[in-house]
Amino acid sequence: MAVDTILDINNIEVVYNKTIQVLRGLSLAVERGKIVTLLGSNGAGKSTTLKAVSNLLTLENGAVTAGSIRFDGGDTARLAPHALVRRGLFHVMEGRRIFEDLTVEENLTAATFALSGRGVKPKGFDLVYQYFPRLHERRNGLAGYLSGGEQQMLAIGRALIAQPSLILLDEPSLGLSPLLVEEIFTIIASINRDLGVSMLLVEQNASIAFAVAHYGYIMEHGKIVLDGPTERLTADEDVREFYLGMS
Ligand code: ATP
Repeated sequence: MAVDTILDINNIEVVYNKTIQVLRGLSLAVERGKIVTLLGSNGAGKSTTLKAVSNLLTLENGAVTAGSIRFDGGDTARLAPHALVRRGLFHVMEGRRIFEDLTVEENLTAATFALSGRGVKPKGFDLVYQYFPRLHERRNGLAGYLSGGEQQMLAIGRALIAQPSLILLDEPSLGLSPLLVEEIFTIIASINRDLGVSMLLVEQNASIAFAVAHYGYIMEHGKIVLDGPTERLTADEDVREFYLGMS
């Protein structure tokens, strides 16, 4: 049976400020319903890859100068970021980007604005609170007073409101305690399993990424150098040494 690919990045090149080339012919695919992780050292181009997919590069004077990106069968090149959200692609950016002066519930309400009246019926908040009961407890508190872990939950919760078919997750573990990382990744895995949401997960924490992902890609200097099912990658000597800190 043919593989059902929800995201297909084909040989893309990305340049910032018309001069700095960051991606050099990068290709990767996300199979529908799967979690795929993208790993690599600092500055390899992981966040740039996600921004290329969600068409956020123009905000940073960057551009895809070659190659193509297809989401759900359609070319993304001419679609604005909000149009991609309405089609089911949601990017949870690094650093959470929540509205700190609004309450938790107001942050979730804000997420519905981009969707309402445009063909997508925002889901109630029940689904978000089902996966993140802590957000329910803190729903009337200001988001700025949430802990780092709760802010990450809110960032993912806002994505859920959009009923996405693909979530791009940029370093959800950043700055969190090991216990919270485990809690959040358990929820990420259950959102994938229960709702069938596909995910492209950028992480520095390779062991937790491999624990939830079905397939992994490793990039260096703007292109993929290794890929495979996560069981195979975790058995690879070099991956164990350089990414998992084992030998
Ligand atoms: P990190 O984990 O450190 O975020 P990364 O793999 O996500 O790393 P990117 O953030 O994609 O890497 O950055 C890749 C390269 O592109 C880096 O050398 C970075 O300095 C450069 N870069 C990123 N954003 C810009 C920008 N707006 N303008 C110019 N160069 C940029």
